[in-house]
Amino acid sequence: NYILGIESSCDDTSAAVFCDDKVLSNIVATQDVHKQYGGVVPELASRAHQQHIVPVVDQALKKAGITKNDLSAIAFTRGPGLMGSLLVGSSFAKSLSLALEIPLIEVNHMQAHLLVHFINDTNSKPPKFPFLGVTISGGHTQIVKVKDYFDMEVIGETLDDAIGEAFDKCGKMFNLPYPAGPQIDKHSKLGDPKKFEFAKPNVKGLDFSFSGLKTSVLYFLQKQTKLNPNFIEENLNDLCASFQSKVVDILISKLNKAVKQTGIKQIAIGGGVSANSGIREALLEKQQNNQWNVFIPKFEYCTDNAAMIGIVGYLKFKQHLFTDLATASKARYAI
Ligand code: ATP
Ligand code: FE
Repeated sequence: NYILGIESSCDDTSAAVFCDDKVLSNIVATQDVHKQYGGVVPELASRAHQQHIVPVVDQALKKAGITKNDLSAIAFTRGPGLMGSLLVGSSFAKSLSLALEIPLIEVNHMQAHLLVHFINDTNSKPPKFPFLGVTISGGHTQIVKVKDYFDMEVIGETLDDAIGEAFDKCGKMFNLPYPAGPQIDKHSKLGDPKKFEFAKPNVKGLDFSFSGLKTSVLYFLQKQTKLNPNFIEENLNDLCASFQSKVVDILISKLNKAVKQTGIKQIAIGGGVSANSGIREALLEKQQNNQWNVFIPKFEYCTDNAAMIGIVGYLKFKQHLFTDLATASKARYAI
């Protein structure tokens, strides 16, 4: 069976074609218009989705070597995300399902970030249920007990900023362009992670907080730039490395706690921040010490993409979990 997946929850328009659990194509059109504003402008995002969606889907079908008439079902992101962006993808998916008379499948974007581990294109095996899913992205930071494909329970989450937001906001303070996460990662590789000490939040249980770290970076920079206006440029690599290592430290300590509390030692990460090299290295170290069994997505499945929607489309298609044309997009949508 051929399944088309469509993702349009934020600022990337993406379409993927699957043959069962195998990816035939995964096309992503990013939107450059937001760079000059230092963040995503929702109104501009929905307009760009409207321009991109038809060519992106055409390209995905072409690369897969099929036509739309070969499709068995169409899956799309129902939420969470920006309402205007979600509406473009869902309206397109509904129209196509109506025109082709094929089933329509709705997908929760955050479930999809974790279910990428079931895409059949690596030699590694997928995690077994139950496992701990870790959604680390631009809008979320959650530890999720994944009992089955569509039975997930959040056991820890951020009380304020998301982890990706922390990267982007602190990166902005370091004068890095949006999205700053990948830039911080790059500069970290050249810096000393022990050079500067930023505050580690003290949050109970499995919840996270990143606003204190952000404030600690802000006050530190204000103090230092008063003494030396070029402080940031002169110390960029060390600032990035020190910040990133603190974030890794926060994440790994919470995961240690979660493993202890649940007895589950399989950790599967997902979301844009799972592309981060510091986080990947720290997890692999845990694996090498035989402490955890870790599952790390391919880079192309970390940030927003339609392959993650396509795999959920396949998993729901198998179970006949279809939706109808009355389904409505959800800006907030629990995992
Ligand atoms: P959500 O999935 O919560 O709705 P989103 O879809 O906007 O949010 P993603 O595309 O999953 O978010 O992730 C984007 C985030 O990932 C941005 O904050 C970006 O800075 C961050 N990011 C991407 N690559 C890296 C990296 N190598 N290191 C750190 N952060 C990164
Ligand atoms: Fe996302």
